[in-house]
Amino acid sequence: MSKVMKREEQRVEDTWNLASIFESDDAFERELKDIEKYLDKGEKFKEGIDSKEMLLEALETEREISEKASKLYVYAHLKHDQDTSNDTYTAMEGRVRSVLVKVNTAWSFLTPTIMNIDEETLNEWAQDDSLKEFKFDLEKLNAKRAHVLSDKEENILAQSSEVTGSPTQTYMMFNNADLEFPDVVDGEGNKHPLSQGTFIDHVKSDDRVRRQSAYENLYATYRGFENTISSTLQGVVSAHAFEASVRGYKSSRHQALSKNFIPESVYDNLVKTVNDNLHLLHKYTELRKRILGLDELKMYDMYTPLVRDVEFDMTYENAKEWMLKSLEPMGEEFTDIVKEGLENRWVDVYENKGKRSGAYSSGTYGTNPFILMNWTDSVNNLFTLTHEFGHSVHSYLSRKYQNSNQAGYSIFVAEVASNFNEALLADYMMKNLEDDKKKMYLLNEQLDGFRGSVFRQTMFAEFEHEIHTMKESGTPLTAGALNKLYGDLNKKYFGDSVSYDDNIATEWARIPHFYMNYYVYQYSTGYAAAQSLADQVLRGGKDVAERYMNEFLKKGSSDYPINVLKNAGVDMTTTEPIENAMKVFERQLNELEALLDKAE
Ligand SMILES: [Zn+2]
Repeated sequence: MSKVMKREEQRVEDTWNLASIFESDDAFERELKDIEKYLDKGEKFKEGIDSKEMLLEALETEREISEKASKLYVYAHLKHDQDTSNDTYTAMEGRVRSVLVKVNTAWSFLTPTIMNIDEETLNEWAQDDSLKEFKFDLEKLNAKRAHVLSDKEENILAQSSEVTGSPTQTYMMFNNADLEFPDVVDGEGNKHPLSQGTFIDHVKSDDRVRRQSAYENLYATYRGFENTISSTLQGVVSAHAFEASVRGYKSSRHQALSKNFIPESVYDNLVKTVNDNLHLLHKYTELRKRILGLDELKMYDMYTPLVRDVEFDMTYENAKEWMLKSLEPMGEEFTDIVKEGLENRWVDVYENKGKRSGAYSSGTYGTNPFILMNWTDSVNNLFTLTHEFGHSVHSYLSRKYQNSNQAGYSIFVAEVASNFNEALLADYMMKNLEDDKKKMYLLNEQLDGFRGSVFRQTMFAEFEHEIHTMKESGTPLTAGALNKLYGDLNKKYFGDSVSYDDNIATEWARIPHFYMNYYVYQYSTGYAAAQSLADQVLRGGKDVAERYMNEFLKKGSSDYPINVLKNAGVDMTTTEPIENAMKVFERQLNELEALLDKAE
């Protein structure tokens, strides 16, 4: 690999055009100064809002100031990420952050003040034409009213949050800062450092000794602290139960899912449908065992790629063509946006010194989307670029067709458009690649992606719900109980082709997501919804593509996430989308098996 260039050595056409946000840093500074003027515009509403005219003015002012603030933030954070070693932009980002805090603090009164308007009056105002842009936001506020407590109680809850948050704090500090692991020893006796970050590289290795060493050393270390970690996990689960109970929710899950108005049946359907299809995961592990040629398939054999040494030679120029071709089933309105992005410098393509690693799609209301990449000519980069364009087009269309208060979208649907794009790309490549080995490589990537996003995350979701239920019924979450529960789930999910050992039973101890209150199931539902939608578009053609554009990509958060998805063709309150996604997995599994038979 040639040496990494400096930021100023990048060709302009390979960088994102931040002058489209502010023409210069001076213009940014002027705007940053200007926003200070807005800070005390909230004062006059603090005493109470007593007419619909006043409510409209408050909502519009707050919307305007948050639009301005996010634009400032996006400019500074992109400038910072393109070269994090540049002190000017580090400082600029810091200054914007503190302005954001000021804005949020200055306007934090608004929701409680609106809640002080009695329900009937607020409902009546919300029906008025003048407030129609905010009608849905107000409806959502009203719906949560039953769980808002008195001012005094809310105050006590706010003050107690430092205490209830402390188990999570303790776990994060322990897991990220204090915990140390013994070195990994590879097949040739060489030592390698082991950390949370390097673990996945070790278990992806084709050196089995190295994989086993990483696996055993990591889990033995966690096992040594299992009582400490079960106690932090018990602490956070208690905190969830406490808040759910004082706010009058039926359970922790009820509260967590109510945040985005997701019915609990969505969760139960997911777990049930995935359980009904575990034979497919078992077939996958059998196939993995066969391809790797092992007598015993262990949990540390689960991540190593089944097909190696495949050269795609994917230059950025080639990748753009593959991506555009693969997205053609979406029609011109869609591909024109992608072309516009490629031509008008939405993408910051190559690595340079100090550039933030990884990839993302960013931007805000009033700017175009921006995509950060660190391109290295790999086929995985092509998938990443296509994934990020999924986010970008979703944001672009939602901002174009919605006001800024409804242009964002909830975490429940956030990964649908991105995974949808990846599914179209995979389909197109499978149809157009000639080399069987390349096809097998892609199928392996698809299957592993599905396994990780749907099966594994649903297993997490099942574990998470079970520990909350145990807590709510008074069963203590001891290390022994957690190991037993997790070990049994792991056996059930991965099946008899895997030679089970006790190490994996402690995996729960290393998963920070269990501290995030019913978060993980959304990886599975989002991924499955995307697979199902892509499959429908590929089979159904233009009308289905249009429905997905109009009912999903353009809708932002103008309706409940479950309704937006339903109107686009996936009803997550039924088992159908998960079942459809399972069929895609099964098809890919059969394709891989057929190619394997052919090669033998
Ligand atoms: Zn994403």
